[in-house]
Amino acid sequence: MGKYKEPDIYKKKWYQKNKDRTYQNSQTPEAKKRKIISNKKYSVNHREKILLNKREYTRNHKQEKIAYDQQRRKEHPEIKKEYYNKHKERVLAGCKAREHINIPLGLFCQICNKELATQRHHEDYFKPLEVIFCCRLCHENLDRNRKEREKASPEEMKKAYKNAWKI
Ligand SMILES: [Zn+2]
Repeated sequence: MGKYKEPDIYKKKWYQKNKDRTYQNSQTPEAKKRKIISNKKYSVNHREKILLNKREYTRNHKQEKIAYDQQRRKEHPEIKKEYYNKHKERVLAGCKAREHINIPLGLFCQICNKELATQRHHEDYFKPLEVIFCCRLCHENLDRNRKEREKASPEEMKKAYKNAWKI
C-alpha cells in the first residue's frame, strides 16, 4: 500500500479554471498577438524600471559588452552602413558638431542644470552647429520625445526639414 496523499485541491481548481491554457493554444496567431500587446503594455508601464535594470546590467558586464560589440561590428559591417542610410542627417550633424564645437569644461547641463554637460544635442539636424549642451540622461529624454515634439509642431516644420536637406 502506498502512502495516502491528500488531493491537491488547489491544483485541480486551477486546472479547471485554466483548461484552455495549453501549450498548443498559446501558439495560435491570436494568442501570439495578445502576448505581444501585453508585452508592449508592460514595457510602457515599467519603462523606468526596465531602463534602470538594463543600465545596471551593462555597468556590471562592461567588458563583455565591449567585446560583444566589437565582435558584432566585425561580423556585420553592414550594420553601420544601414544605420548611416537610415539616420544620415543625424550622423552627419554629429560629425560636424564634434569637429567644430567643443563642450566647455565645467559647464552644467542646460536642461537639468544638475549634471556636467557631456553631450551635444541637435534639435534640428539641418543646423549642425546649433547644439544644446546636456548630460546623457537629458539627451536620451530629448531624443525620445523628439517624435512627439515634431508631431505637435506645424507641418511647415517638416517641409522646412526636407527643403534644408536638398541643399
Ligand atoms: Zn541634464
